[in-house]
Amino acid sequence: MSRGSTENIPPSSPRWHSQPGEAVAAGLDSPDAGLGRDEARARLHRFGPNQLPGVAPTPWWRRLLRQFHNLLIYVLLGAAVLAALMQHWVDTGVILAVVLVNGVIGYIQEGRAEQALQAIRAMLSAKATVIRDGERLRIDAAELVPGDRVWLAAGDKVPADIRLLKASRLQAQEAALTGESMPVDKDGEPVAEDADLGDRRGMLYSGTLITQGQGMGVVVATGARTELGKINRLLATVEELTTPLIRQMTGFAKTLTLVILSLAVLVFVLGLLRGQDPQMLFMAVVSLAVAAIPEGLPAILTVALAIGVTRMARCRAIIRRLPAVETLGAVSVICSDKTGTLTRNEMMVASLVLADARYRVEGSGYAPEGALHRLDGVDHPSGALAPLLQACVLCNDSQLVRGEQGWRVEGDPMEGALLTLALKGGLDPAEQQQRYPRSGEIPFDSRYKYMASRHRGPDGSHFLVVKGAPDVLLGLCREEHGGQPLEQGRWLRVMEEVAAGGQRVLGVAIKLLAPGDDEGELQHRQLEQGLRLLGLVGLMDPPRDEAIAAVAECHHAGIQVKMITGDHGITAGAIAARLGLHNNDEVLTGRDLEQLSDAELCERVAEVNVFARTTPEHKLRLVQALQERGAVVAMTGDGVNDAPALKRADVGVAMGQGGTEAAKEASEMVLTDDNFATITRAVHEGRTVYDNLKKAIVFLLPVNGGESLSIILALLLALTLPIEPLQILWVNMVSSIGLAMALAFEASEPGVMRRPPRDPCAPILSRFLIWRILLVSILFTIGIFGVFQWSLAAGHEVGYARTLAVNTLVAMEVWYLFSVRHLYSESPAWAGWHSLRPALLAVAVVLALQLFFTYTPIMQTWFGTHPLSADHVLLTIGIGLAVFLVLALEKRLVRMEGK
Ligand code: ADP
Ligand code: MG
Repeated sequence: MSRGSTENIPPSSPRWHSQPGEAVAAGLDSPDAGLGRDEARARLHRFGPNQLPGVAPTPWWRRLLRQFHNLLIYVLLGAAVLAALMQHWVDTGVILAVVLVNGVIGYIQEGRAEQALQAIRAMLSAKATVIRDGERLRIDAAELVPGDRVWLAAGDKVPADIRLLKASRLQAQEAALTGESMPVDKDGEPVAEDADLGDRRGMLYSGTLITQGQGMGVVVATGARTELGKINRLLATVEELTTPLIRQMTGFAKTLTLVILSLAVLVFVLGLLRGQDPQMLFMAVVSLAVAAIPEGLPAILTVALAIGVTRMARCRAIIRRLPAVETLGAVSVICSDKTGTLTRNEMMVASLVLADARYRVEGSGYAPEGALHRLDGVDHPSGALAPLLQACVLCNDSQLVRGEQGWRVEGDPMEGALLTLALKGGLDPAEQQQRYPRSGEIPFDSRYKYMASRHRGPDGSHFLVVKGAPDVLLGLCREEHGGQPLEQGRWLRVMEEVAAGGQRVLGVAIKLLAPGDDEGELQHRQLEQGLRLLGLVGLMDPPRDEAIAAVAECHHAGIQVKMITGDHGITAGAIAARLGLHNNDEVLTGRDLEQLSDAELCERVAEVNVFARTTPEHKLRLVQALQERGAVVAMTGDGVNDAPALKRADVGVAMGQGGTEAAKEASEMVLTDDNFATITRAVHEGRTVYDNLKKAIVFLLPVNGGESLSIILALLLALTLPIEPLQILWVNMVSSIGLAMALAFEASEPGVMRRPPRDPCAPILSRFLIWRILLVSILFTIGIFGVFQWSLAAGHEVGYARTLAVNTLVAMEVWYLFSVRHLYSESPAWAGWHSLRPALLAVAVVLALQLFFTYTPIMQTWFGTHPLSADHVLLTIGIGLAVFLVLALEKRLVRMEGK
C-alpha cells in the first residue's frame, strides 16, 4: 500500500476548472488505469466517505413532546387539572398515567416506523461507475475518493465534483447548484480562472444531472468539500409519514373533536342552568369527550402504512413517496416497457442476415460457446461476416465479465450479446478495440434509435460504424456490403420475418471516411451519405415467465396492461402475443401516434395495448390520454427522457438496476429487480394497505359511536352513566388500539386481485360502510346499556354493573374484529386461519389486560372495577358472539339484496 503517495494531494485546489484535465489528473496521482484498490481504500480512510452531512435528527425529547401535541391530550390534561382542583387525586393520577403511557408508546411506534422507512430508502443508495486497477466497476457513490476516474452517461447524477477528461456531446443540468434549469454544454476545456460556476465547461459538480451524452473525468472533491457541500443546501427533505387518506382521517378526527368539545361545553352549561350537580355533569361531559374522540385512529393508520411500505420493499418495490402506497391500490392501467421489464433482458443473438447469407447462432446466455451455422449449406463463411462482427465490437460500450457465476455483462445486455457473438465468431473484442481506437461517437438515444462511433485503423484510415434500429438504418444506407445498391424491399421483408419470431432486430452499417472527414465531433449529418449496410442481427429476449402470470393476474384484477417500447412493431406484437396482453393484434407505432389528435388518441388508447417505435415524448402523451379517460396510471421508465412521463403518471415506476438516477428521482416507486411482476405485487400490497386502513376506520369508529351514544342516552334519560370516564379512557387507549393494531398487520383478503380497482373518486366510506358503522354503534349501545341496566336491576351495585358493561364492550369489540377482517369476502371468520396470527395475538394481549383491569386490586382502586363472577364473564362473551352473528346475518342479507 502506498500511503505516502496520498500525502501530496492538495486538500483543495480552486483552479481545477482553469487547468487542463491531464494536469489535474496528474496532480491527483490518478493514472489512466484508475486508482489501485489499496490506494482507493487509503484515500477513503483519509478523506472520509463521499457523503453530505445529513439533516440533524430531531432530538428525542422534541419527538416525545410532539406526541403530546394533540387536542385530546389537552382535553385530558385539562380534566386532570380540574380533577386535582376537586381533589380527586386518583383520577388525576390515572389520567396522567394514561396520557404518559400513550405518549411513550406513540413515540416508540413512530420511531420504529421511521426507522423502517429509512432502512428502505437506504436501499436506493446512488452508484457510480469507476475505473480501478484498469477495470470498470460499479461502486457505491459514497466510496468515491479524489483521484478516482468516473464514467458518466445521460441520466446519471454526478456523484462528486469531477474534472472532465473526455466528453462527447455532454450536457448537464446544474439547477441544484446554479438555479439554471437549461442544460449546459460540457466539453472538458479549461476556462478562465475567474469563470462562474455555471461557465466552467470542464467541470461537473456533485448533485447535478447529466441530460445528454457521455464522459469520463477525475474526481477532485468529495462529500462536504464539493461545491454542493460548501453551499450546505441540504437536498434531503424529511418526508412526513402520511398519505392523503391519513391526512383526511386526521382532519376528520380533529373536526369531530371540535364538534364534540363544543357539544360537551353546551351540555355542561345547559346542565348548570338546569341546576344539575356540577360534579356529576363534569364527569358526564369528560366521558362524552373521551368517548367520542377517535384518538387512536391516526396512529393505527400510520402503522398500517409503514407496514405496507415494508412489505412492498420485501417484494422488491421501494416506495419513494408515501402517498403512492395508496394510489397503487387504485391503479387501473399499467404501462410497461418491454425490454427488461416484461422480458428477461438476457439477450442472445440468435440469427444473422447478411447480404449473401443467413446464419443461425447456437448457445445460451452470454457464454461465448456455440457455433455460427450458415443456413444455405455453403461451408465457408460469408465475406460480410467478419466486418459485421468487427462493427459489433467497435460500436459497443459494454464489457463481458467472467464471474464466479458464469458470464455477465457490465453495461447494456444487448451490447453484451453482440460481444458474445463476436467471440463465438472467433474475434477478440479487446484486441479489436485496441487496434481500432475510437476517435468520436454519438451515444445511443431512444429518440433517434442508433449509436455511432468513429475509429482509426493501424494504417491511418478512418471509418464510422453505426448500429441501430433497422428501419432507421435502411433509411440511411444506399449501399450494402460489397458496394451493390441496397435492395430496400428485400431487407425490409427479411427484417419483418425475423421480427415476427419475437426477435429484436438490429441493423449494422459502416462508412469509410475520406481524409479530412475525420476531425472534430461526430455529427448526425455525417451518417446521411456513404453508409453501407453490413447486415441485420436478430436477438432473442424471451418474456419472463412471471410476467406472463402477472399480466393474467392484472386482467383478473381489472387492470389493463399496455406495452410501450422503442422496439419494432412486429417484434413488439410477437412478444405481446406471448405475454397474453394483445387485445386485437393492433400495434400503434410512434409515427401513427403523431398522426392522431389528442381526442383521437384518447379514443384509440382504450383499445390498443401495444405501442412500438415510441419515444419518451410519446409516453407522456399516452399517460395524458389515459388520464383524460379517468384512468389511474402506473408507468415504467428508465432513461433521462422518461422523467416527464414518470412525473406525470399517477405512479411513476423506475428501474432500480437498469434505470438512470434521473428516472428514479422522477418516480414514486423503484423496482429493485426491474421486473413487471413486482409492479403487480406492489399493486396487490397497495390494495391490501388500503383495505386495512379502511378496516381500522370501520373497526374504531363504532366503538366511539357506541360509547358516546350510551352516554348521551344516559344524559337524556337522566340515568346513571354506564361507564366511567376513566374506564372509557382505558377502553379507547388500551383495548381498542390493541385490537385495531392487528388490522394494520392483516394479510390480504383472498380476493384482492379478483375485484376491479377502486374508483379513485369514491369516498373512503361507502354507503354500506357508513351503514355498518351506524349499525354496530347501535348494537354496541344496546349491549352496553342493556347489560348495565340488567345488572342494576339484578341488584348489583353500580361499580359492578359498570365493570360488566366495560367488559361486555371489549368482548363485543373482540368479536367485531373477526367480522371486520373480512369486509369483502363472505368467508367465515376462521377462513384463512393461517393469517389469523396478528388477530389472535392482539386478542390474547387484550384479554390478559382485561383480566388485569378487572381482577387486580390496584386497577380496582384506580379504575373502580369489581371482580366479575365466572357466569358473567361467559355472559359478556355470549353478548359479543350475538353481535357477531347479527353482523354475519346482515352481511348475508345485504349481499342477497345486492344480487
Ligand atoms: P426498448 O423500449 O425496447 O428498451 P429502446 O428505445 O431502448 O427500446 O430501443 C429502441 C431500438 O433502438 C431497439 O429496437 C434497437 O433497434 C435500438 N437500440 C437499442 N439499444 C441500442 C444501442 N445500445 N445501440 C444501438 N441501437 C440500439
Ligand atoms: Mg432500452
